[in-house]
Amino acid sequence: MIRFDYARATDVAGAVRAGAVEHTRFLAGGTNLVDLMKENVERPLHVVDINRLALKGIEDRDGSTEGSGLRLGALVTNADTAYDPRVQARYPLLASAILAGASPQLRNVATNGGNLNQRTRCYYFYDTATPCNKREPGSGCSAIGGVTRIHAILGASAHCIATHPSDLCVALAALEAQVLVTGPGGERTIALADYHRLPGDAPDRDNTLAPGELVTAIDLPAEGFSDHYTYLKLRDRLSYAFALVSVAVGLKLDDDGVIRVARVALGGVAHKPWRSSEAEALLQGARPAEGVFRAAAEALLTGAVGQGGNDFKIELARRAIVRALKQAADGTPQSQSDKRVR
Ligand SMILES: Cc1cc2nc3c(=O)[nH]c(=O)nc-3n(C[C@H](O)[C@H](O)[C@H](O)COP(=O)(O)OP(=O)(O)OC[C@H]3O[C@@H](n4cnc5c(N)ncnc54)[C@H](O)[C@@H]3O)c2cc1C
Ligand code: SF4
Repeated sequence: MIRFDYARATDVAGAVRAGAVEHTRFLAGGTNLVDLMKENVERPLHVVDINRLALKGIEDRDGSTEGSGLRLGALVTNADTAYDPRVQARYPLLASAILAGASPQLRNVATNGGNLNQRTRCYYFYDTATPCNKREPGSGCSAIGGVTRIHAILGASAHCIATHPSDLCVALAALEAQVLVTGPGGERTIALADYHRLPGDAPDRDNTLAPGELVTAIDLPAEGFSDHYTYLKLRDRLSYAFALVSVAVGLKLDDDGVIRVARVALGGVAHKPWRSSEAEALLQGARPAEGVFRAAAEALLTGAVGQGGNDFKIELARRAIVRALKQAADGTPQSQSDKRVR
């Protein structure tokens, strides 16, 4: 048995103080952390339960007008976020991405902060009998040359080819959300694009949080792309499965049908949600058409490399991007209650 201390934090300052101690983990919904502790993958000496912190609200930012953004508390559950009427009306892309993930039971417990910080689903990361640089730095990567169906095609390194498994984060990337954190050094805001890391030579670090930093909230900008969006998730079965490839799209069209703003983020393909400014620049100023969607897909997939078992993901992603752009432009978003891709 591995012993650890358990403590409940009652305010953010106390949680941050406790979190600054080495080998501490924050406990939110526990749907990832507890699994990892049971599997002996995570072995914290101190567990700080943050469930009593006052981080459970969803608030309008800058007053309460339709034009302002929303602030999502870190401890709001994924379900309460997805079913909040303001999220449904103004950020249906986010609601759709959340509802594409996990199961209703898990979403009722899993929190927004926990989702951001969930760890990879690489089989070898979970298998403590095999080398894994993310779990045990310097031990090697068993996935390279191993079973790679769920692994990265973009941004991987010679040290790790894992993907980030979140659906929520892919939508947050397309929405250009900001993550609010408090740590021993005070408060700061991290753009979602800078929150998760590529593995490089330090795959044990999933994100740019400093030791002891606590996520307190996620800010959504005013623009939610509620008229032209889609979250298309492709997986091995229609529910309760992580993405092989997912695509979050938000488009803003002018009255004459020209794309004014385009955001496209991919999930399931890299160590972080994947965007390409070149792809988005190709779309902006163009009329929605298959040719321009294909060009955007090529730009997004520039540099994509398969590992053998996941070579299929490159073509899957290419087609998914084109389909998702078409769904968004047509205003016919992917349904998360009827998940068949038409
Ligand atoms: C069977 C199964 C299927 C799943 N399918 C999907 C899926 O399809 N799509 C998807 O996106 N997700 C999926 N998930 C993952 C699920 O969404 C995550 O486990 C969940 O979001 C984690 O939230 P939590 O509150 O339970 O986090 P916890 O398990 O409590 O914590 C996870 C990590 O985040 C850290 N943490 C938690 N809160 C904070 C905070 N505020 N600040 C800093 N660090 C924090 C913890 O220390 C820990 O390291 C699945 C999970 C399971 C078990
Ligand atoms: S891909 Fe990353 S997480 Fe998976 S075995 Fe290699 S180092 Fe570990």
